[in-house]
Amino acid sequence: MQLGDIDIELIQKNIKNVHLSVLPPHGQVRIAAPLHLTEETIRLYAISKLSWIKREQKKIRGQARESKRLFVNKETHYLEGRKYLLNVVEADAPAKIVLANKTIKIYVRPETTTEQRQTLMNEWYRERLKKIIPSIIKTWEPVLGVSVASFGVKLMKTKWGTCNIEAQRIWLNLELAKKPLQCLEYIIVHEMVHLLERHHNQRFLALMNKHLPDWKQSKELLNSLPVSRGDWEY
Ligand SMILES: [Zn+2]
Repeated sequence: MQLGDIDIELIQKNIKNVHLSVLPPHGQVRIAAPLHLTEETIRLYAISKLSWIKREQKKIRGQARESKRLFVNKETHYLEGRKYLLNVVEADAPAKIVLANKTIKIYVRPETTTEQRQTLMNEWYRERLKKIIPSIIKTWEPVLGVSVASFGVKLMKTKWGTCNIEAQRIWLNLELAKKPLQCLEYIIVHEMVHLLERHHNQRFLALMNKHLPDWKQSKELLNSLPVSRGDWEY
């Protein structure tokens, strides 16, 4: 369906209500509508939502731009929910990263590419996470009565974490290094609760409510921060 310069993907299926979504990373518009609605009705509905659609598209495209980092001086980067300015120091010495006050100092050789700087930063984030995660897991193992055999950290596009129940292994998204610690803890607890309940059902919800009553706040915080918007699941 075409609405001015906006291309809308229309899906009609056996549902009760119309669902309108604007999706990252490019702001594609999708409408899922009940089978009985005519295309004209759906078109009128879309027109009534036009300003909302445009606003959402602007937001999403703005965020996509914001997340594109160049790893240059004065650029904003996040660590554990706090904002830091990047300070790139070119030196003919092995690369290293030092945290100083509100600055992340990254020492690199001249002519280091953006990709190399990004890799260096990502490894630094990974090391920091790997230092923090074991103590969080250890704290929660006796509380939940489960044991985590191993954990891993990797970049994931649409998931904050995953749990392999059979192997008792959890994977955590490297991006969590940039989020407040309460968000990291929330995702770890969520994945550990999967060792008790595979599905996101009532029992799962009850376990979360019992052990981490403020999990919803952490979830909202996680999804309100830059870079992380979208259809995230875990
Ligand atoms: Zn889950």
